Order: sequence, then C-alpha cells, then structure tokens
Amino acid sequence: MLLPDKLPRVGTTIFTVMSQLATETGALNLSQGFPGFDCDPALTALVDEHMRAGRNQYAPMTGVPVLRERLAQKTAEQYGVSYDPDTEVTIVSGATEAIFAAVTAVVQPGDEVIVFEPAYDSYVPTIDLNGGIPVYITLTPPDYAVDWSVVEEAITDRTRLIMVNTPHNPTGRCWTRDDLDQLARLVQDRNIWLVSDEVYEHILFDGRTHQSLMTHPVLRDRTFVVGSFGKTFHITGWKIGYCLASAPLTAAFRKIHQYVTFSTVTPMQYAIADYLAEPARYQQLPAFYQRKRDLFLAGIANSRFRSTPAEGSFFQCVAYDAITDEPDYDLAIRLTKEIGVASIPTSVFYHQQNDYHILRFCFAKTDDVIQEAAERLSKL
Ligand code: PMP
Ligand code: GLN
Repeated sequence: MLLPDKLPRVGTTIFTVMSQLATETGALNLSQGFPGFDCDPALTALVDEHMRAGRNQYAPMTGVPVLRERLAQKTAEQYGVSYDPDTEVTIVSGATEAIFAAVTAVVQPGDEVIVFEPAYDSYVPTIDLNGGIPVYITLTPPDYAVDWSVVEEAITDRTRLIMVNTPHNPTGRCWTRDDLDQLARLVQDRNIWLVSDEVYEHILFDGRTHQSLMTHPVLRDRTFVVGSFGKTFHITGWKIGYCLASAPLTAAFRKIHQYVTFSTVTPMQYAIADYLAEPARYQQLPAFYQRKRDLFLAGIANSRFRSTPAEGSFFQCVAYDAITDEPDYDLAIRLTKEIGVASIPTSVFYHQQNDYHILRFCFAKTDDVIQEAAERLSKL
C-alpha cells in the first residue's frame, strides 16, 4: 500500500531535533523556546486545589466560563477592547491549535495566504493541509522591516488571509502603529482575513508597548487574535491558548476546534482563571525578560558575534559572519556538540532556507545557564 505524504515539504521540526541533540550531548539548551525554570508554585497549588475539588471532566467546548470572562476582562483593561466571553472568546489547546483552527476556518483550496518569513514553523504546514497557497514576503536582517509596497504587490484577488506575528519569533521584532495602519489600508476594502499570533504580547522591551491588531478599528473584526498562557505564565507544557475574534469569525473557528480537540484540560483552566486575578503576575514580565536579554547580550559583548537587541519575545538573534562562513544549520549542530550550546539556525524559518549566518538563542533560562552559554560562545 502507498502511504500518502500530506506534508512532503517537512520532516521533524527543528525544535525536536535540537532539543533532542541538546539532551543527548548534555548541552545547554538555548534552542527550543521554553523557560528553563519552573512556574509559580501558587499556580500549581491552584491546579491541585481544582483537581481535588473534582473539576476533572470535560470542559465546555468553548472553554470554562470563568476563564473566558477573566480573559475578556483582562483584554478590556489592557487594550481597551471588548470581547464577549460567550461569543468571541475560545480557549484551546495551545496557540498551535488556535492557528490551525483559524487558518482552517477561512482557507479554501487554491486560496492565497501571505506569510512573512522568517515564519514560525507551524504556519505553512497548516496552510498546506488546507490546500492554501503560501505567498512569501521575505524579511531580511538586520532590521527585518516590512516594505508595505511589496505586500501591496503580493495581494491578488485570491488573497484570503495574512499571517501576522508580533512580537516576532525568531527575530524579536515588534510591529509599530504605523505597521498596523499600513496593513489596515491594504485590507480594508478587500475580502481578506488576518491571523495575528500574539503569544509574546507581554514580552516587549525598552518601554515598547504591544500593538495588538485588535486595537485597530479596521482590523479588529477581521482578525483572529491568538494568545498562549504558556509564554505568559511559564507553562508551555500545559498547552493552553486562546482565540479572540468577532462573533462570526469565532463561530467559524469553533466549528473546527470542536473536531480537533473538542475541549481543553479542565483543572488548568480554572487555575489560570484564578491566577489572572493579579495583573502584577504578567505585568512584571517585560522587566523580568529584559534583564535576561541584557545578561545574554552583556555576556557576548566582547565576542565576535554581532546582534541588534531583541525588541520583544524571549529570543535573541546573533550574526556569526566574523567567526565562520559555515551554513547556520551545520554551525548550530557543531556548537551543540563541541561547546555544549544549542541554538536554532534561522534558515529553517525560510521556505528556501535563506542562510544569513544568524542563530537564534532563547534567553528564557536561568541566569547561570545564560552566563555559562555566553562565556562559551565568547571563546569562539
Ligand atoms: N506561535 C509562536 C510565534 C510561538 O513561538 C509558539 C511557541 N513557542 C507558538 C505559536 C505555539 O504556542 P503553544 O505552545 O501555545 O501552542
Ligand atoms: N515555539 C517554540 C520555539 O520557537 C517551540 C515550540 C515547539 O517546540 N513546537 O522554539
């Protein structure tokens, strides 16, 4: 029997490859994006409390009501935008599921989807599985700025969706108000939807504020805003995310979600709902991660690596031109084996593996790991 390959362009994700190699070799793992420290014990205590209280059966398909309500309340306080918890807020099993459900809700075979690359690795396979056609806008170092005239030229009558990600993985770049205005100008008279991956919404540096697409009046009703509690509360392993979208978009989104996972882990949803009561718990994130970014940057300041400080996210990209002309993939593997520091080669985020000699390091790690990694890198 012939086994069809529905995703012939992809193999095992780079995150699995590099994390596995880091484990096998005992390397410091600055590759896959996850915190190298635990979440607040108050949060796990809440899970324990809700499990013991018997909240262990299926949650409602849309998410437990108290979490949807508190998330809507937090969103209103933070961005001044209101979402109806019953018809516009859905809790799902991670941002990855939200992206899958949103793309699947609107993309028909043959539809074009604009993807800015470097792009987070789940976008294109999700588009492919729906028969969509990715149309790439290639962003380049050092600033990865969007040239909006290029986006305008890429839009056709078949463009159905644009994928947005701010703060951006892997570049750490954040969109400005002007980017939102330019996007609004291009989509406002067209039948184009938006998926806005905002999982790093609380991780911006140097006084920047997050420009959520929901805050733009033209964009709010045509955007699936995707978030993840994993990044905000150091619980990437819980895989709990959400989608905020206008009622018609949410209805379409839920049609898909109900047959992908149906619902999401119950006691954790209750725990997060309780935990959201204290805004300080996420308001301290920019300072927390900025200190870690700066620790990493200070650690490699006297090395031959070159970098532009990340504006947001928990990733720092560094250029290694002055050290070697090896391909970034080979170098990432070699550094893991030889000096015990794992990173992600940024070429994997481009559909044609553009190699700008840049590695991505995740600085969501303990200070001693960041310092030790920087020390090893500085010897190169
Ligand atoms: N989008 C981006 C940009 C990410 O970096 C990640 C995960 N690191 C995700 C989506 C997936 O989030 P989740 O783990 O909640 O599925
Ligand atoms: N988003 C994380 C990263 O960019 C990894 C998530 C995953 O392993 N799929 O490293």
